Amino acid sequence: MFKLTDYSEEIMVLKYESTRNKNINVNPSEAVVKGLSDDGGLFVPREIEELGLDLQEMCSLGFHDTAKKILSLFFADFSEEQINDSVMNAYDSKFDSKDIVPVEKVGDRFIMELFHGSTIAFKDIALSILPYLMKKAQSNCKMKEDIVILTATSGDTGKAALEGFKDVEGTKIIIFYPNDGVSPVQEMQMVTTEGDNTHVVAVEGNFDDAQSAVKEIFNDLELREKLGDMGMKFSSANSINIGRLVPQISYYFTTYADLVKKNEIQIGDEINFVVPTGNFGNILAGFFAKLLGLPVNKLICAANENNVLYDFLTTGVYDINREFKKTMSPSMDILISSNLERLLYFMSNKDNEYIAELMNQLKTEKRYEANDEIKAKIKEQFWSSYCSEDDTTDTVKKVYEEFGYVLDTHTAVAYKVYEDYLKENKDDSKTVILSTASPFKFTGSVYRSLFGDTDMKELDLIKELSDKTGIKVPVQIDGLGERKILHNRLCTPASMDKEILDILREGK
Ligand SMILES: *Cc1c(COP(=O)(O)O)cnc(C)c1O
Repeated sequence: MFKLTDYSEEIMVLKYESTRNKNINVNPSEAVVKGLSDDGGLFVPREIEELGLDLQEMCSLGFHDTAKKILSLFFADFSEEQINDSVMNAYDSKFDSKDIVPVEKVGDRFIMELFHGSTIAFKDIALSILPYLMKKAQSNCKMKEDIVILTATSGDTGKAALEGFKDVEGTKIIIFYPNDGVSPVQEMQMVTTEGDNTHVVAVEGNFDDAQSAVKEIFNDLELREKLGDMGMKFSSANSINIGRLVPQISYYFTTYADLVKKNEIQIGDEINFVVPTGNFGNILAGFFAKLLGLPVNKLICAANENNVLYDFLTTGVYDINREFKKTMSPSMDILISSNLERLLYFMSNKDNEYIAELMNQLKTEKRYEANDEIKAKIKEQFWSSYCSEDDTTDTVKKVYEEFGYVLDTHTAVAYKVYEDYLKENKDDSKTVILSTASPFKFTGSVYRSLFGDTDMKELDLIKELSDKTGIKVPVQIDGLGERKILHNRLCTPASMDKEILDILREGK
């Protein structure tokens, strides 16, 4: 264990505690470096409601200044220079839009395009900045060990993390992805990653198997000791890391500001956000934005046929005794949504013992039921529905035919869920649909939805989709099929720890 030193007493630094134990308290830098609390809980800022932001001022800022403002609130032990440097290096010409997160109007709703970074999916927003935050946090903690980033991915996190950490000195990154659980584009993106410190391993199992194994590895004392002997320490780039979550708050504010600038809303008007959800990180950032004072009416949680979150948000029962389904929106194919634990923490009035109890039930009984107070609070702020595979296909096609706009499959899930919302609720608030991937990231499913079945290979369909829709192939994936495969490891969930030691002992 390392301790933080040299903090001036006068600076009020927002502390982070474990969702499961309020006596575990760390400074922001330590929370970023560790990723997960030693007791298995997630780090949360207890005093978040005290932060507050001036909405008028926020509406006058662009993406970079918004990010700086938010990061300096949450990471108050970082210097202004550290924050500035992180933001400006992360959000540069890697993004193919100078707005970083542009907003398009499609019919009477708004599409927040989160896919303009290096891997054409929303995780780029957080993972472009995380390596910078982590390196600086490491220095703030006076930590000497090298960081080993260990991450389970349902597809998009993997490549975005690899790109972010590639060749960052003092770090190694090991990515585990479910074999047969990611799209060919996602897999090719990952296994062709260059960089001396990058490692990619396919796991025989689904995403939850891989994620559960990673969590256990983090809590494996013996393994941690072995790593310590090698001068290394684990950290996580999964959305359980607070350094991932906080940068995602920015785009809720900049999108709101954008609608104000375009005279679509007045400052103070409440709007809805519809979020295609998997691990509950993206939508939780929206909830944090709301706690900071953003006028949000409903956070609409869109699920695919793995609808465990829909069930929970509508009944209060979280039950993973169910079949895991592979869908055409694979980044949302999740049964255990880790970040939900943070929502429960805030919804239970920060009752750590209660959260520990629920998480223990989840582990032993694969099920828990939230109390009535939590259920009521959730009903007030959230709404949820889910979208079938057929409806996903139909929505991609319908929106293209009606508006000429091509949705990716995850965004289509959100679009359809918003239609459900409108059928059941009288609500004329302006609504923003978060678009989490470029249609080219899931070319096969998008192409088939638009033009019917085909025998062509997914990687060849990229150009075909572009030719038929007139939308340019993003430079980020141009020529992907011709790149050299550099990673070919395969293991079972039970042998992941062995695989890690193998990799680290090779010394690359
Ligand atoms: C990760 C991801 C999601 C789910 O986001 P969470 O923060 O895990 O809820 C949705 N769509 C795409 C394309 C993603 O990559």
